[in-house]
Amino acid sequence: MATLKIEGLRASVVGKEILKGIDLTVSSGEVHAVMGPNGAGKSTLSAIVMGKPGYEVLAGSITLETGGESLDVLAMPTWKRAAAGLHLVMQYPTEVPGVQLDAVLTEAFVSRERSTDDLDGLIRSEAGRINFDERFLTRSLNVDLSGGEKKRNETLQLAALAPKIAILDELDSGLDIDALRDCARRVEDMSNDGDEPLGVLAITHYSRLFDELKPDFVHILADGRIVETGGAELAATLESDGYGAFAPATEDSADASANALADLF
Ligand code: ADP
Ligand code: MG
Repeated sequence: MATLKIEGLRASVVGKEILKGIDLTVSSGEVHAVMGPNGAGKSTLSAIVMGKPGYEVLAGSITLETGGESLDVLAMPTWKRAAAGLHLVMQYPTEVPGVQLDAVLTEAFVSRERSTDDLDGLIRSEAGRINFDERFLTRSLNVDLSGGEKKRNETLQLAALAPKIAILDELDSGLDIDALRDCARRVEDMSNDGDEPLGVLAITHYSRLFDELKPDFVHILADGRIVETGGAELAATLESDGYGAFAPATEDSADASANALADLF
């Protein structure tokens, strides 16, 4: 059983506070959706969990409880976070010319002290499960792949690495319905299978991701705060009503309504 615990997290980027107090706990086998409008801080949250440079943590903690240990995630370099079982599926997968998928996975397996004896077979069987064409396996990572192929490639890496907790940053952006179904279904299976099923933090705008990946909890992130938490029904409410009902009053919007009121009198 693994648990990612985010407590009181406040963070800034280029001097601007983006996350204003996030509390979130994700355990093995749970699927947590984080939904929110553009600019809410969703990608910032994923960047901070993985340790992307350029973000400053102002307050709070992130811990990964696994194998009887409690790891201080914020004190670890990114590669150690990944080796400990955290994994990010990126919104915009990076192209890495000259580096093939099997080389990436070999490095990752070695750093996790996992045998690479049947890595080739594993890659092929995972590719088959998500309908990722084998001829792409020998290309440079994400180079000349379509949006859907890139996300299939990301999903293949996730499945092969089998981390403890995965963050999916808009897995559903830039891919077609078939690719979305294949990728989301694979993640849903991972969240159900094995002794220590995958814990998932799925960041998205749209509830269509949840046709295949079934969330246990839905959180709404707006202006750097979680303003609402519910079950899958909350995603359906958002789809019909939008984020407006959940958006916190900002200083700008408060000013705008004060001005509008002043204009009336
Ligand atoms: P979301 O993923 O919810 O759409 P982001 O986390 O990407 O939102 O961005 C939140 C806010 O932080 C936005 O206003 C964005 O412009 C700003 N931001 C994020 N990363 C950077 C960065 N590296 N440099 C400058 N501003 C950033
Ligand atoms: Mg984003």
